[in-house]
Amino acid sequence: MSSRPIYLDSQATTPVDPRVLEAMIPYFSEHFGNPSSINHLYGWETEAAVKNARQGIATAINSTPQEVIFTSGATEANNLAIKGVVEAYFSQGKHIITLATEHNAVLDPCRYLESLGFTVTVLPVEPDGLVDLEKLKSALSPETILVSIMAANNEIGVLQPLKAIGEICRANQVLFHTDAAQALGKIPLDVEEMNIDLMSLTAHKIYGPKGIGALYIRRRNPRVRLMPQMQGGGQEKGLRPGTLNTPQIVGFAKAVELALEEQSRENERQEILRNRLWQALSSQLEGICLNGHPRKRLANNLNISIEGIDGSALLLGLQSKIALSSGSACSSTKQEPSHVLKALGHSDALAYASLRFGLGRFNTAQEIEQTYRIVVETVLSLRQASVKV
Ligand SMILES: *Cc1c(COP(=O)(O)O)cnc(C)c1O
Repeated sequence: MSSRPIYLDSQATTPVDPRVLEAMIPYFSEHFGNPSSINHLYGWETEAAVKNARQGIATAINSTPQEVIFTSGATEANNLAIKGVVEAYFSQGKHIITLATEHNAVLDPCRYLESLGFTVTVLPVEPDGLVDLEKLKSALSPETILVSIMAANNEIGVLQPLKAIGEICRANQVLFHTDAAQALGKIPLDVEEMNIDLMSLTAHKIYGPKGIGALYIRRRNPRVRLMPQMQGGGQEKGLRPGTLNTPQIVGFAKAVELALEEQSRENERQEILRNRLWQALSSQLEGICLNGHPRKRLANNLNISIEGIDGSALLLGLQSKIALSSGSACSSTKQEPSHVLKALGHSDALAYASLRFGLGRFNTAQEIEQTYRIVVETVLSLRQASVKV
């Protein structure tokens, strides 16, 4: 049998949609000009393509194109936002607030700043993965300059209350950054309605290419100041110098356009499949629990923990048939229990024995049916084997 495992790891990455690839191709060799070349057609045509893409992304989040800076992805956008704000505002305060379940691309820059003498409050989450707004309010101090809380969690899919967080930050004149890598194209994002001051985006979670993303930086009410983290040719208002990657930028914008077009239909379809998967697993297996809030979560995410089973044996048993991960793609290589599941109060053993199913645009009902059969079969046989010894 040469068939490849069923791909259910869409929180790690997604394939480039053929329509996205098609939009990108002319910009590799035909329209190859440097968008900063202002003296000839080659530059003008790519400059126009970048302008168009920037407008599309701005429209998707209800910002202006001037507020969108292209980066290599969400990791870079998070670093630029957090370090850039802290460097620009440190004379006003040295305290930042974040959340225990953030991606390492937020937690690690915060830890780095802590090593430089800044104070970082890492708020805990409730057992359902949500932030407690009262705890956020009481963590604020006159020293606080930034709150960084993600839109949608990459492991458990939980959606944080962005609008309420934005209101609290605005009322206290503290900047609000959100890592929206998992949220873009899946839930409505509106920087005005949600009082978001900085927002990190990436293309490869929504069927765009890897290595391209953006940072939204508010320009009015208030105008956010940011120190660049690189110096160079002055592109992107000097905030992110380097020749613009036109094919990737065009692909990113196309991916956003398609995701918005298909958002409600795909959310509905994937939610039905996701719920069917959960129903089947929870009715056929004892001792499994759902991680994260049952409804305030991404439509394509299911994260479960399975009692009385060795997590690595489970993944090993599944990997030839289903491609998924335990925890996040990044933390699962480290062989440490997921910090997100630990933040929900799980023991190491239960955190290890967890599966993250990330459904996507190209998954079929038949694949989901195969998936629950395979998971049930594997769990039952592992449990039987452990009874024998
Ligand atoms: C994938 C992801 C990132 C990293 O994005 P890159 O574009 O791969 O750098 C950051 N935060 C979250 C929540 C993610 O899901």
